[in-house]
Formats: sequence, structure tokens, C-alpha cells
Amino acid sequence: MTANLLDFDLEGLAAFCETLGEKRFRATQLFRWIHQRGASDFEQMTDLAKSLRSKLQGAARVQGLSVLTQQESADGTIKWLFDVGGGNAVEAVFIPEDDRGTLCVSSQAGCAVGCRFCSTGHQGFARNLTTGEIVAQLWFAEHFLRGHLQTSERVISNVVMMGMGEPLQNYGALVPALRTMLDDHGYGLSRRRVTVSTSGVVPMMDRLAQDCPVALAVSLHAPNDALRDGLVPLNRKYPIAELLDACNRYLLRAPRDFITFEYCMLDGVNDQPAHAEQLIALVRQHAGVGVSCKLNLIPFNPFPASGLTRSPHTRVMAFAKKLIDAGIVTTVRKTRGDDIDAACGQLAGDVQDRTRVGERIAQRRTIALTPVHDTAPTSKERTQ
Ligand code: SAH
Ligand code: SF4
Repeated sequence: MTANLLDFDLEGLAAFCETLGEKRFRATQLFRWIHQRGASDFEQMTDLAKSLRSKLQGAARVQGLSVLTQQESADGTIKWLFDVGGGNAVEAVFIPEDDRGTLCVSSQAGCAVGCRFCSTGHQGFARNLTTGEIVAQLWFAEHFLRGHLQTSERVISNVVMMGMGEPLQNYGALVPALRTMLDDHGYGLSRRRVTVSTSGVVPMMDRLAQDCPVALAVSLHAPNDALRDGLVPLNRKYPIAELLDACNRYLLRAPRDFITFEYCMLDGVNDQPAHAEQLIALVRQHAGVGVSCKLNLIPFNPFPASGLTRSPHTRVMAFAKKLIDAGIVTTVRKTRGDDIDAACGQLAGDVQDRTRVGERIAQRRTIALTPVHDTAPTSKERTQ
């Protein structure tokens, strides 16, 4: 089996080039062809020596993911469902805004954490994605969008690891993927614009701070352990006090001077005034110093199996007001791509679901897979 070059960060690619008897700097050229120009065919890489190109033909490939479906929302949000084999699929979502383009990326097929309010969690865990499968979501989306929008400029400025899966339970594959996103010869994204979102895998938060500090979002969802135990089962292993200690350690090396706490607003569960008061006390007084943070309130995206409903808008706003009055920077997440089920926690791409997705797509606007400029993945790769 040949090596998939999407599996390597630049350091890994340099080591691979050495095994082919090539100088390390050749890896930089190769890396730029792949990530900056979207090339997958070694013959296109005309500034590489013919001898290297033929070695690569024999030993390597650049293999993206096949696109099963692509849906575009009326608000410009685009969702892709990618086949990862074995009957599993994962999703990525592009969210355009005036001043940025954000790609929401998946790290696992399914998720083992099993949060009560999350449809990925309800599916259970299928498998970890490889580095190449994580990077392929960005590689495909970036080069597809450049073709789609007819630009040679970078389209995706931000990546959030908020798709399917718990990124810190797939740490080994995550870190090289993050490095490729950050690398100036890769996607050149700023550390502040790459966000890992975690349900609170404390030891891996410490490792991330050392290995690859990027912006961090922590899915808090509850202001006390009794409530969080029932919503995020991982809390039984790493309760809130330990999680917040880990946040403060992370902040010592983080590219931003705050942690984003995500808080999904569940009707009658965690949205009462008393919960807001507990939350304020927690983030201000934890360990006597508090945690430097921003709160992001997420309107719950309901799905039947959860048995939960979305908090009414007035309650979300009242909750936000309490936090703001206490001096805590608070935002309420806009729901984007609602009409294509592209919002948080609705990403559910397993086989059973695919039939459902298929039915939904039939009723909604599906855009054709238009060919991209010649350096992007071939249409065969995209639709296989
Ligand atoms: N596993 C990671 C990242 C993926 S989930 C984590 O939990 O942080 C990304 C975000 O979507 C998390 O904050 C998660 O709590 C939230 N989320 C999950 N299901 C949701 C739903 N049904 N409605 C709203 N937000 C949801
Ligand atoms: Fe997994 Fe995150 Fe969903 Fe929880 S919210 S089940 S950690 S993907």
C-alpha cells in the first residue's frame, strides 16, 4: 500500500522524502503543491525532478475522501457528507460570514462520549479518523470553494473541530492535522483561528497545550457536577473543578487569553436563573481566581431520540443578560444552515442515517458537484 501524503504534516513528509533518498526541502515543494494548490497528480508538479515524480508514483498517493452528498443552504452554508468506508460517513460544514470563512471539521465517525443532547453521541462510536481523513475535509473544501467562488484567494480562514467526534479522544491523528492547518506552507491559518472543541478530556488538554496550542472551546453545558454528569458522561471521570483547573493551565500557553465555554440551552434542564447564577460564581470564583472565559450559548438543535427541547428565545436572552450584567462576555450562537441540518449536533452521517439524509436531500436544494479548477481532486475521486 502506498503512503497517503495527506497523512503527513511537513515534518512527517520530510521524513518520508528522506526514505525515498530525497532532500528534506523537496518536502516543502511537495507540501505546497498538495495543500496550497490542491494538486493530487504528481505529474502536475512540474518543478519537481522527473526522477522524484516517478519515485512518488510508485510509493505515494494523495487520496481525498469521496463526497456522498453536498447541500447548500439558503444562507450560503454548505454541508458535505464524506464516505469514510465500512458504511460510515462524516460531515464537514462551511459557514461563510462577512469577515471570515469557517469550516467545521469532524474528527471521528461517531463519538464515544455519548452526550445526551448530541445526535453524534447517540450514534455511538465507529472509529477514529486518520490524519489524512481530517485534513482531507479542509483540502477538499478549500479547493472546491476556490473553484466554486472563482477565486485564487484563500476562502477558509477559520477551522473549528466541532463536527462529529471528540477530537481529544483522537489525539494522535489530530495533532499532525492541526500542524498542517497552521503551517505556512500548508493552509497558513493562525493559531487563534483554529479551535479545538472538547467535552473535557483533561489529560489531553494538557498535552495539547504543550504540543500544539490553538484556541480552545470547552463544552460545559452545566454549572454543577450533578447536572453535568447527566448531560456529558465524561464529567464523571473529569468533574468540573478538574476541568476548570485544566482550563487555567491551558491558558498559560494558549494563543488567546480566554477559553470559550459552550453551553447548549436545554428547555427546563440547564436554563434557569439559578443555573446562570451558579455559572457566574463558577467562572469567577473557581479556585479563588476564576477562569478567563467567554460564554457561547448555543440554541439546542432538537432531535427526537434526545427527549429534549430547545429553550425559548426569551429564556436564552434572559440567561445571557444575567451573564452580561455580571461582566462575562456572552454570545448567543446564530443558527446557520438550519434548512440543511448543518447546525451543531445535527451532524449524523452513519449508514442508517444516510437513508434519512437521502430523503431529506430529495426535498431540498442540492447543488451539483461542479468541476473545480484543474488542480483540485478529480470528480472521480469526489463522487466514487
Ligand atoms: N466533541 C466536541 C466537539 C464536537 S461537538 C465537543 O463536545 O465539544 C461541537 C459542539 O456542539 C459542542 O459544544 C456540543 O456540545 C454541541 N452540540 C452537540 N449537540 C448539540 C445539539 N443537539 N444542539 C446544539 N449543540 C450541540
Ligand atoms: Fe461527542 Fe461532542 Fe457529541 Fe458529546 S457533544 S457526544 S463529546 S461529539
